Amino acid sequence: MSASLPVTIDDIEAASRRTSGRVSRTPLVASASLGELCGVPVCLKLEHHQTTGSFKLRGATNAVLSLSAEERARGVIAASTGNHGRALAHAAKTEGAVATICMSHLVPENKVSEIRRLGADVRIVGKSQDEAQEEVERLVTEKGLLMIPPFDGPSVVAGQGTLGLEIVAQMPEVATVLVPVSGGGLAAGVAAAIKARKPATQVIGLTMERGAAMKASLAAGRPVLVEEYPSLADSLGGGIGLDNHLTFRMCRELLDDIVLLTEAEIAAGMRHAYTQEREVVEGAGAVGIAALLAGKVKDIGGPIAVILSGRNVDMGLHLRVMNGETDPFREEVA
Ligand SMILES: *Cc1c(COP(=O)(O)O)cnc(C)c1O
Repeated sequence: MSASLPVTIDDIEAASRRTSGRVSRTPLVASASLGELCGVPVCLKLEHHQTTGSFKLRGATNAVLSLSAEERARGVIAASTGNHGRALAHAAKTEGAVATICMSHLVPENKVSEIRRLGADVRIVGKSQDEAQEEVERLVTEKGLLMIPPFDGPSVVAGQGTLGLEIVAQMPEVATVLVPVSGGGLAAGVAAAIKARKPATQVIGLTMERGAAMKASLAAGRPVLVEEYPSLADSLGGGIGLDNHLTFRMCRELLDDIVLLTEAEIAAGMRHAYTQEREVVEGAGAVGIAALLAGKVKDIGGPIAVILSGRNVDMGLHLRVMNGETDPFREEVA
């Protein structure tokens, strides 16, 4: 099956060799409280400890290293205010390349300066993410910069897949893997690695109810648009692209299910991570824990590996959630 997929286990193994030494091998640790709750061993893949605070460094690093020297010299570009922008800025800097990150005037100053601090050339244009993306396309056409997509590119998916290889190496008996899903780059890469090495292992995607583009697309049988709302899991926002090339097909073939979480469930996942595991995790990174706590992935085999995908949450928001707020964005949605 995987031979017909656009990203294979060979690509992921090559990515693993290429990025070795530039990307951290993050710990996989047992969670006593979740193990007790589920009645099977549960381990947490602490990927939020990855350099730049999310797994996106894996894909961005593999993408930059896969470019020819001539391409790298031209520089890389993306429109991202979040984890992909941070990861690409860091990966480019490490390899001596210039990263241009485009964002709109609406992006808060702290996010701008953070990406600037990582060494990127930040361009502020327009009043929306779409206008920032148009600027990316202009610079690609006019200056020959190489666009590195946040999820829908073969070298990005292969890079994210290295996380799956690590899980199998750290827990060869793993029976179920819980993975956050937005554009599907992480889920596609991880599932491709896991299913190649351990075909019987289940890989279950998790996302927020508020704007579940991959779930809606799988149900429709083709990529569709969904309405977007603010969510605690802001890193899971955005669509999968109507002209999706890779991740839709890979998620359709490789994921066993996609489970949706409410804001209150995601908040509970973040609180559990903090109070029981002593981990600061952003909403997107807490959906796996949220699903176990909510009993939404009941009939699954153990041991279970849960990917904590990132930690880049505004600490004021984190504090509000720790103090019991369950849906800070309620009014913006209503
Ligand atoms: C980007 C991101 C995701 C989702 O990854 P996709 O490849 O878009 O599905 C999940 N968690 C965090 C923290 C992210 O930054």
